[in-house]
Amino acid sequence: MTVLNATVGDITTQNVDAIVNAANTRMRGGGGVDGAIHRAAGPSLLEECIARFPNGLETGKAGWTHGFNLPARFVIHTPGPNYRAGQTDQRLLESSYRNCLAVADELGVDSIAFPLISAGVYGWPKEDAVKIAVDTLSNTPTQVSQIRIVTLDAHIQSTVQELLTRYA
Ligand code: ADP
Repeated sequence: MTVLNATVGDITTQNVDAIVNAANTRMRGGGGVDGAIHRAAGPSLLEECIARFPNGLETGKAGWTHGFNLPARFVIHTPGPNYRAGQTDQRLLESSYRNCLAVADELGVDSIAFPLISAGVYGWPKEDAVKIAVDTLSNTPTQVSQIRIVTLDAHIQSTVQELLTRYA
């Protein structure tokens, strides 16, 4: 059985097997949660990104690296759709969540923390991003037993919580 919950906090400090990075297609680090994860993991993360993703990663796909200095053993990276640049098809955002869970299953991950993919610099409207996250994570079959949605903002977290109770 999978338990889905929401927490306010910094994703880089979560004690889980894997954290998800809202990356970009170049896979060479960036701003927002991507920058925070690279800073906390240390420079080996970028080295492994270069080695494993020489040509980057397509929007909506997912791939993994180790977590290095993070408490999490793995980082599962997914470039979410850039709403601001016109990538507004919600199936792309759903596939980011689904493909991350598929990679988590390949790795045998038991607990995972997700940020709200595309809801920062990429400009996906926040309430809609929350709905897509909760719907997709609730409806995707997985072996992962604990899924945590981590946000920096208490207001967003309560929106996540509200939707979660509808699924409970
Ligand atoms: P994107 O480019 O996919 O929009 P961002 O990193 O800009 O990615 O933002 C994605 C979400 O992650 C936003 O809701 C942002 O507030 C949040 N975020 C940024 N840094 C952190 C962090 N350290 N821990 C958790 N969430 C974060």
